[in-house]
Amino acid sequence: MALRRIAQIGESVLRKQTRAVEVIDDRIIELLEDMADTMYDADGVGLAAPQVGVLKKVVVIDVGEGLIELINPEIIEASGEQIDDEGCLSVEGESGLVRRPDFVRVRATNRHGQEIEMMGRGFLARAFCHEIDHLSGILYVDKLEEE
Ligand code: ZN
Repeated sequence: MALRRIAQIGESVLRKQTRAVEVIDDRIIELLEDMADTMYDADGVGLAAPQVGVLKKVVVIDVGEGLIELINPEIIEASGEQIDDEGCLSVEGESGLVRRPDFVRVRATNRHGQEIEMMGRGFLARAFCHEIDHLSGILYVDKLEEE
C-alpha cells in the first residue's frame, strides 16, 4: 500500500489538461493501486490522477458499490438533472451545491486494456462527472449553484 499526497486547491497541477494513457504498463497499474489506497485512506469516493500530481487520464471511484478503475474515460451520454451537495478531496472541509446530469454513460479502458462502458445514476453519475472534470482541470467549485 502506498499513499500519495493529494494536491489542494490553488496548486496549479489541478488546473492542467491531462494526456491520454497510451500504454498500460506497470507504472499505470501502480498509479491505479496507489490512487485507490489514497482515496480509501482519505475516506473519499473518487480520485483523479491530477490530484496526486499525475497529468494522465486515470480515475478511481468507489461510491460503496466496489472499486471502479477508469483509464481514458469519456462521458458518451448524459441525461436528466440533479442538484446536490458535492465535495472534493482537493478542497478540504468544504462542499457546495452543483447541478449534474442524473444519468451518464461512460466509455473507458480497464487495466487489462479492454474497452468498457459503465452507466451511473444519481450519486454515481455525479462521481463520474466530478472525476472526469478533474481530467480537464475543472473543479466542482467552478460550477457552484447560486444560493
Ligand atoms: Zn475532486
